[in-house]
Amino acid sequence: MTIVWKVDPDAANLTDDPGIREAGLRIKRGETVAFPTETVYGLGANALSNEAVQKIFEAKGRPGDNPLIVHISDRVQLKDLVLSVPREAEVLMDAFWPGPLTIVFPASGRVADKVTAGLPTVAVRMPDHPVARALIEAAGVPIAAPSANRSGRPSPTTAAHVLEDLTGRIAGILDGGATGVGVESTVVDATVRPLTILRPGGVTREQLVACVGEVESDAALTTPDAKPKAPGMKYRHYAPKAPVYLVTGDCERVRRFVRQAKAEGKAVGVLTTAEHRDAYPDADFVAVAGRRTDLATVAHGLYDALRAFDSRALDVIFSETFERAGIGEAIMNRLNKAAAHRVL
Ligand code: AMP
Ligand code: MG
Repeated sequence: MTIVWKVDPDAANLTDDPGIREAGLRIKRGETVAFPTETVYGLGANALSNEAVQKIFEAKGRPGDNPLIVHISDRVQLKDLVLSVPREAEVLMDAFWPGPLTIVFPASGRVADKVTAGLPTVAVRMPDHPVARALIEAAGVPIAAPSANRSGRPSPTTAAHVLEDLTGRIAGILDGGATGVGVESTVVDATVRPLTILRPGGVTREQLVACVGEVESDAALTTPDAKPKAPGMKYRHYAPKAPVYLVTGDCERVRRFVRQAKAEGKAVGVLTTAEHRDAYPDADFVAVAGRRTDLATVAHGLYDALRAFDSRALDVIFSETFERAGIGEAIMNRLNKAAAHRVL
């Protein structure tokens, strides 16, 4: 049984909300609870307990070598989790917390071993979602939380997505409506110089550079064969059941691949944007992720669009591509993973 607690994120005094109180108690008791953040829904457990954290890995089918992000609601909680706070990390926290930025610190050894997957570092984030913040306060412990999907599936941006994947496998879910950003947090390693982006996400490279000057990218982000420093980045992810191909160039080029696949008798899906909604009359199913003129809307709608393909029997999916600037870098990172780097 998975309990669903409805919560209005705009309500006053969320810490008194009965659903949040019970969810917090359950986390403290070692159970798993899914909750909204400003990026995607997370699946939370007490970050100080190996037994609790193990339930996250089991519910998701997540490989044990993929560490979890620890969520806090107050900077005071950080001290206990890390060995030291580099000055550059202070600057980033001042600028982007609470918000979609995860920072990798030298670990103190206080969080459960399973959270860090045995690494000497720990990834920490302070989310900017009233329900997430209130839940962490109610639990009274830092909350380890990956995205609340079965491993390999697109991350959930609504409570319905979470229930699709995890009903019966987790204690409960706080339903606070759709998430905002739509893609996960940016992960920055603050244990190396220059600071290095391990995963692009809600805070853009341009924003980071404007804040701290020089910022590197993990080699694995540009060279698919390099070993990523964020263990999770090596796994296939965000993928619908049918194979996805990214098609560079304009709509007409995408249309040519659609026509060719149709001529081969295939059922074809297309991932597009509102501007091109009607541009693919030959496709069997078209999923729209936001507006091309505003990439934040594409990030917001991306996972819902990717999930929509699985409700149809499709043989192949063609996706339009986006410029890798601003939030476009995170969008293209996720699309490349969904497509297992197949680009036409
Ligand atoms: P998820 O929570 O599912 O969005 O994934 C969290 C991402 O952060 C994964 O790619 C992890 O491998 C990465 N991560 C978590 N902790 C660390 C760490 N200590 N060092 C490097 N990457 C990490
Ligand atoms: Mg995930």
